[in-house]
Amino acid sequence: MKNGNSIIKKDYLKKIDLLDKYDEAYYLNSSPLVNDSEYDQLKNQIFTLEKKYKFLKNKKSPSLKVGYKPSKTFKKIKHKVPMLSLNNAFNKDDLINFEKKIINFLSLDNNNSIEYSAEPKIDGISASILFKNGKFVQGLSRGDGVEGEDITENLKTIKDIPKNVTNETFPDEVDIRGEVFITNKDFKKIEDKFANPRNAASGSLRQKDPKETSKIPLKFIAYTYGYIKESNITTQSEFLEKLKIWGFKTNKYNKTIKGVNNLIYHHNELEQKRQKIDFDIDGIVYKINNFSLQSRLGFITNAPRWAIAHKFSANNSVSKILKIEIQVGRTGALTPVAKIKPVNIGGVVVSNASLHNEDEINRKDIRVGDIVTVERAGDVIPRVISVNTTKRSKNSKKFIFPIKCPSCGSATIKEYNALTKKKDAVRRCANEEYICEKIAIEKLKHFVSKEAFNIDGLGKKIIENFWELKLIRFPQDIFSLNYNKIKDLDGWGNLSVSNLKYSIDSKRKISFYRFIYSLGIRHIGQENAKLLALHLKKPENFFRFEDKKNFTEVLNIDGIGDTQINSIKNFFSSKTNLKILSELNKVLDIQVENQANKTGALKNKTFLFTGKLNEISRAEAKSLVEKNSGKIISNVNKKLDFLVIGEKPTTKKINLARDLKINIINQDQWLKMLKKT
Ligand code: NAD
Repeated sequence: MKNGNSIIKKDYLKKIDLLDKYDEAYYLNSSPLVNDSEYDQLKNQIFTLEKKYKFLKNKKSPSLKVGYKPSKTFKKIKHKVPMLSLNNAFNKDDLINFEKKIINFLSLDNNNSIEYSAEPKIDGISASILFKNGKFVQGLSRGDGVEGEDITENLKTIKDIPKNVTNETFPDEVDIRGEVFITNKDFKKIEDKFANPRNAASGSLRQKDPKETSKIPLKFIAYTYGYIKESNITTQSEFLEKLKIWGFKTNKYNKTIKGVNNLIYHHNELEQKRQKIDFDIDGIVYKINNFSLQSRLGFITNAPRWAIAHKFSANNSVSKILKIEIQVGRTGALTPVAKIKPVNIGGVVVSNASLHNEDEINRKDIRVGDIVTVERAGDVIPRVISVNTTKRSKNSKKFIFPIKCPSCGSATIKEYNALTKKKDAVRRCANEEYICEKIAIEKLKHFVSKEAFNIDGLGKKIIENFWELKLIRFPQDIFSLNYNKIKDLDGWGNLSVSNLKYSIDSKRKISFYRFIYSLGIRHIGQENAKLLALHLKKPENFFRFEDKKNFTEVLNIDGIGDTQINSIKNFFSSKTNLKILSELNKVLDIQVENQANKTGALKNKTFLFTGKLNEISRAEAKSLVEKNSGKIISNVNKKLDFLVIGEKPTTKKINLARDLKINIINQDQWLKMLKKT
């Protein structure tokens, strides 16, 4: 057992040492070695060890220390009142526990609804400014909480900090504390020098020469005090109001809130708004509002008992690349995808992350076995954002991007982009579309997809399966499937086969624009397909596209540019495509839609859908809007008339629509509008 304990202790000390190294790089040198989530993971591992093995103790433990000792570059000065750290909460349970402890400590009634001052936690660096008789006399950084660095002259360069407060209610002597930070916009100008805005603020503020600090537009938001000589202010929210009167900037998102449920509601709301705020916030600090309760609660080693930082869910995490796969898409693009060790990012387990393209892999020198940071933002495919090269093994080898298509073995090309006058970053398979297996399968998946032929029961997996069984090779094969063979396949029976036959046959009738879109011509998305259908009027004109007359017609369409025209020309230059068109023409009934039903019930109205609709697909809803003379737009802006919300809508869209005073309606209300025809 003794031996076991010494192994645990060794591991613990190793972790403490590593964390100390990270702290030194982050606090002292403003240049972190790892990202915050990796740092937090290590810190949590230390806490877990300390909880489990009571014999583990060390003065460098994160449960005991604050920040890092002051730099030798500056004079050290003791804080009159220590500047502490904050404990973290990550979910509702953490908050319930926090409040329970407070209720117990203060022996309050369980029904007592505690009032909090909820303040966004700005990701900058804190500073304490001493004012005597209204005059700014000294400014310190937090340092290790007990002693700070004398950065008076540097702080004096910040415009947001008043140098002389004349208001008569201002205390004779007070340390005003707050956060020094840089806005994201200003950070963009110096982003090549620092890893993130927090480090840019810390690095700029703690320059040896204050003239260097003055070159960076640092900001200051005040939120508390350290030492205060006589005061009759009784609550934090009252103090925040006073700060404004005295001429300090405060956070406009500060709020007074009662009870844990309302804290959670506010947290969700602010997390949605986070992207719109022009400086980084990484959570919300909840402080017991009442000062006399605060002083009864006091402090735990390195943090107040009366406050907690409720962190926002990280949208990135660290994992290891197990393999790099090259996927071939519908347009022949070779897309590298990292298969990573599964990791939980904001509640979703991620095991694949995009590496974009060959150029990106080369630029970041991404390799198999690398430890990488993966970001998952909104509904976008997770992506690798950075590599930790310090953790790379000595045997690691540079990743060689294939120059032959991994699907068909043909040569690949990087196209020249006439617009940027550069070669494309994307490498593509140069083979004929339906000859390269992967391209063909992806094209078939596109052909049957919701926005194209929308064939129920013919999903991606079935397309792959039918391809493998050589049941389909080209789109026209879908309309002459060998149902007898399918009936005998695993998982199929008479009923499912007749359902499939029914859904395929019911799609022989198709609108002209959907037909064009379904062909998957590069650069011809839904909107361009609509333009082409509208201008070419009859399907015959499309089939005889090589005719000079039709081609000239297309040249004149507003919205169809050179890129699209070249792509269409390319499509028609392939014998396979011409054959596909003529075969499809034999089995389909391509209909010219009554394009402009200009008198429909939704005339001149624009719509956007968010969330899942009941018993109707998004594609069908869009087509209903258009059939009724309405228009679909793709994001919330002033041109939007109605935001239609279904189940689990995107809160960001709703909030933005609310801000812009756009009508927000549900599916029933929308259907009622349709019925008014
Ligand atoms: P903390 O989490 O202990 O929080 C205290 C700090 O919150 C204060 O000093 C102040 O700067 C800030 N704050 C912002 N708004 C506030 C408000 N309204 N009221 C009170 N305080 C407010 O801070 P910490 O110990 O400096 O840093 C912990 C964070 O830093 C973690 O998120 C950690 O991931 C990160 N960190 C990262 C590395 C790294 O190597 N990547 C190293 C060290 C720390």
